Amino acid sequence: MKDIRDSFLVLPGIVIALSLMTPCDVSLATGLQNPSAPVTQVVLLGTGNPQPDPDRSGPATAIVVNGSAYLVDFGPGVVRRAAAARLDKGIAALEPANIRVAFLTHLHSDHTAGYPDLILPPWAMGRRTPLEVYGLKGLKNMTDHILAAYGEDIGIRRDGMEHEPPEGVRVNAHEIKAGVIYRDANVTVTAFPTRHGEWEQSFGYRFDTANLHLLRG
Ligand SMILES: [Zn+2]
Repeated sequence: MKDIRDSFLVLPGIVIALSLMTPCDVSLATGLQNPSAPVTQVVLLGTGNPQPDPDRSGPATAIVVNGSAYLVDFGPGVVRRAAAARLDKGIAALEPANIRVAFLTHLHSDHTAGYPDLILPPWAMGRRTPLEVYGLKGLKNMTDHILAAYGEDIGIRRDGMEHEPPEGVRVNAHEIKAGVIYRDANVTVTAFPTRHGEWEQSFGYRFDTANLHLLRG
């Protein structure tokens, strides 16, 4: 079997079920409906775990539907892996400045250490709308503290010679409950509770699109 280290697994598919099956793993179930006309791609940006494996970035998966990206988790390395997917695979939706919606399964650091990187450099590289992030209780607190920690950087980019627009560094952190938590023209996203170690809360996410069938939630 081909070793996928240092490469992307891009799955044109019909089914996406993301949940926490084992500690710090994101499981993926896929099926194939119409391989000749894929409009949905599942891109495994990072399949690592807390171990600092130099060949695996932290957990992060991108669901790309009709040219829009939906991120699940943002482990360390997520932004550089997204940039590589843009350059190596031509997935324009994964140009970091184009990533605008993300979902978080839980607050473990290996799933969230890429959060400042997701907020800040893509703003400096051209994101002009707020980042919309969906997750569990504690997400707002984490978001507020990250923005505060990088206040000096944000201030100088916003108010200095770069004149970066303030709306691009805004983060709308949505603390959700189980159920349908997001819907747009491409996807409906349903959060479902999972069990993960001692965490009081963790979520999996089910993505439904117009031409997808759900295999597993
Ligand atoms: Zn975990």
